[in-house]
Amino acid sequence: MDKVFRARWILPICYPPIQNGWVAVRGHEVIAIGAGDCPANSLQVDLGSVALLPGLVNAHTHLEFSDLAGPIGMPGVKLYDWIDLVIKSRRDRLDGCEVIDRGATGVVLGGARLVGEIATVPWPGFFVPPQLEMLVFGEVLGLRKPRADERLSAAAGHFSRFSGHAQVTPAVSPHAPYSTSLETLMRCVAFACERQAIVAMHVAESKEERELIESGTGPFADQLAKLGFFQPDCFGKGPEATLQILRELSKAPAALVVHGNDLKESEIEFLAGQPQMTVVYCPRTHVFFKHPVHPVAPLVQRGVRVALGTDSLASNPDLSIWNEVRWMLQYRPDIAWHDSLSMATIHGADALGRSDLGRIVPGAKCGLVSVAGDVDRCEDLPSRWIESPEPPIWVTE
Ligand SMILES: [Zn+2]
Repeated sequence: MDKVFRARWILPICYPPIQNGWVAVRGHEVIAIGAGDCPANSLQVDLGSVALLPGLVNAHTHLEFSDLAGPIGMPGVKLYDWIDLVIKSRRDRLDGCEVIDRGATGVVLGGARLVGEIATVPWPGFFVPPQLEMLVFGEVLGLRKPRADERLSAAAGHFSRFSGHAQVTPAVSPHAPYSTSLETLMRCVAFACERQAIVAMHVAESKEERELIESGTGPFADQLAKLGFFQPDCFGKGPEATLQILRELSKAPAALVVHGNDLKESEIEFLAGQPQMTVVYCPRTHVFFKHPVHPVAPLVQRGVRVALGTDSLASNPDLSIWNEVRWMLQYRPDIAWHDSLSMATIHGADALGRSDLGRIVPGAKCGLVSVAGDVDRCEDLPSRWIESPEPPIWVTE
């Protein structure tokens, strides 16, 4: 029998909030939505004074760090020092399936129905919580060709293993401009085009990254040299180096530009003309590194799609995408609250190629989550959410 969920507020995301509304569900699919009288011959569930949302989307994480008790390094650590600490920490950390499962559980606790997971492949994940679907990006890096060859071949194995999987969709991720040559990036994009897959890359994460790729100098270059990874021919590509990376990514069927903390006006202008590209902003990770103010406002103003991610427990206290939304509502009041909510729902779903998630409309898939909704005016929901630390409650899988 169909089920009908009544709630004080329904937030379909792509339509305005509905007060005292209902959502009718058949199996795992939304079949109708409305206010007032609801369909007869259905099992009615009154959820009370809550706001009903589509399952959220966490567009960026690395679950392999889910055994960490807290972020690596002190707040404000420089990215190039942090990478060194991460490499060292790998030697002491747990490995494998259990860590991924622990992370996936944390992601679901934060209300996420869909997650973009960057993985060292072969990916050890095995058990995926029933309400979660995952885009698992096989990470490819290499400033030198043999390393890139080996990682691309592992990514190909990742695609063979997960093609047709019910909950895992394979994707590919050239890691970052400081670890991946332009040639390797181009090979990843060609690899994604052959498979109609989505690409994700960390880009414009810090001003030191920009100095490295534009001029081949600075603290990032020094750190790479210290670690024995510096390749002079990969860096110092001039003032359009970041734009060149964005141009290459734009050739993929869809691309996530992860972080984008240091995007310049000309780069935002380019992204505004690329509807297949999405910037993924990780607010609390951004705070951890004490980066300058994120350009999320100009991105939104220019119509660039922005999604939210948590990044990993190596730079964030938890994997709750709902807590990222709450952070946005509290600390980025310059962004309209419904825009912040869209970043963690419909924009994330569209970025990850899932137009059937991130919104409550007939034909969309469940799950649905509820959060506090005991207010009379929908404009009061954001302040209610800021003061309510309770995690989202799963209403349907
Ligand atoms: Zn990341």
